[in-house]
Amino acid sequence: MSMSDPYRLKDASQIPSAPFESWGRYPTYPAHTVPLHWQSDFASASAGLHNGGALAVGMGRSYGDSCLLKDGNLFVTTGMNRLISFDPATGLLTAEAGITLAQILDFCVPRGFFLPVSPGTKYVTLGGAIANDIHGKNHHSAGTFGCHIVQFELLRSDGTRRLCTPDQNPDWFTATIGGLGLTGFISWATLRMKPIVSRMIDYEGIQFHGIDEFLSLTEQARNLEYTVSWVDVTSTGKNFLRGIFMQGDHSPLPAELKPSPEPKLVFPFEAPGFALNHATVSLFNTAFFHKQIHKRVVALQDYEPFFYPLDKVLHWNRMYGKGGLLQFQYAIPWEHAREATVAVMKEVAKSGLASFLAVLKAFGDVPSPGMMSFPLPGITLALDFPIKPDKSFPLFERLADMTREFGGRLYPAKDAAMTASQFQAFYPQWEQFARYRDPLLTSSFWERVTGDRLPL
Ligand SMILES: Cc1cc2nc3c(=O)[nH]c(=O)nc-3n(C[C@H](O)[C@H](O)[C@H](O)COP(=O)(O)OP(=O)(O)OC[C@H]3O[C@@H](n4cnc5c(N)ncnc54)[C@H](O)[C@@H]3O)c2cc1C
Repeated sequence: MSMSDPYRLKDASQIPSAPFESWGRYPTYPAHTVPLHWQSDFASASAGLHNGGALAVGMGRSYGDSCLLKDGNLFVTTGMNRLISFDPATGLLTAEAGITLAQILDFCVPRGFFLPVSPGTKYVTLGGAIANDIHGKNHHSAGTFGCHIVQFELLRSDGTRRLCTPDQNPDWFTATIGGLGLTGFISWATLRMKPIVSRMIDYEGIQFHGIDEFLSLTEQARNLEYTVSWVDVTSTGKNFLRGIFMQGDHSPLPAELKPSPEPKLVFPFEAPGFALNHATVSLFNTAFFHKQIHKRVVALQDYEPFFYPLDKVLHWNRMYGKGGLLQFQYAIPWEHAREATVAVMKEVAKSGLASFLAVLKAFGDVPSPGMMSFPLPGITLALDFPIKPDKSFPLFERLADMTREFGGRLYPAKDAAMTASQFQAFYPQWEQFARYRDPLLTSSFWERVTGDRLPL
């Protein structure tokens, strides 16, 4: 191969360190980013490292620092994105871990298959989806992404490879699903896709006021595949905790299964830090709530706006300005879910900070296969805030403490703020998990919440 071959593995020591940011754009740390193109590149790149440790990174769609490694080496997997096999009789798809869910959909939808679980963006990799054991709008019926993983290969920095399934190397299977990229490098994986006959979703949007209406709609929708709610965090009084409950199922009526068009809109500039404040978010929320004129709206909707409304505008995180955004996402068990959600929303309202995107959803009781998986049966609430250092961090600390008191936990994939003691209380199994960590691999998140630093 010639030196200019783009598929040739670069030597990490020759790659200058440059700032790398996750989706939240906070924190930003310098790292050597090494693009991997071949499954064998992991072993070669690891063998050539002299210091700093390493971490695999996919699309960098995690919000905080779980996909960052300050002054370390980030092995970027997106060049390792080949499809390996697909069996339309079983729906089993095998692909390299750097393939994105968008690329899987482009291949599978025209063949009548859909993702078994999908997050709120399709721009995440297969490896990233496994490492965070992501959840979607069908958690109550389908569990997490890991529930649909049949097997994967795990490469360790000592050169060993393990085929992991629920029966073969089951402890490595369970440690790696939701294992934050720390147990080794996932080179490829097999996923069970689900059959569909149409791109369309039978959609229903229902306005609700208050937690009890939300809970009652959740109960009524328990046999529907997808449910999620948008909540207006800025409203108080009789409008406190108003929102829109969105539910849907794949349409059973056969229709053309064409691929999706490429998104054309790009958020064009860095918004000034003051653009998203309580007043502007409150105006937006009121308009969004009333955009649905009727209490109940029924429609046949394409899967793109149903699953990925935010993907329509690339780089929408620039809307939060250079300072970035923090996301707070908890899961609280049913026992305290109602009171916790009301209490947290009140605390947010009291802080004067406005959350632009607030999502409420019930998690089901399908067990997650991952040792460190985030979901638990109960309610999950996700809130995005532009960073205002003097107010955001104290608020996040209070919200995390409340989550702990209510027996819940926070989602590492979205976190940039929880303390070591909070993490260790949320995930008491962390020390058992730490036994599976590859000695070369670490992340800024892991170092922050465990104090476990690799020697430089
Ligand atoms: C708009 C938006 C909506 C979202 N909605 C949801 C949602 O509904 N539900 C949900 O659960 N999450 C959601 N997320 C979070 C996102 O799904 C996860 O953070 C996901 O893991 C990101 O995948 P990635 O490819 O970008 O991985 P990265 O963020 O780059 O990395 C995530 C983790 O995966 C590890 N990793 C990546 N590749 C490999 C590999 N080959 N081997 C081993 N480890 C690897 C990394 O080390 C890191 O620990 C959302 C994010 C955004 C931006």
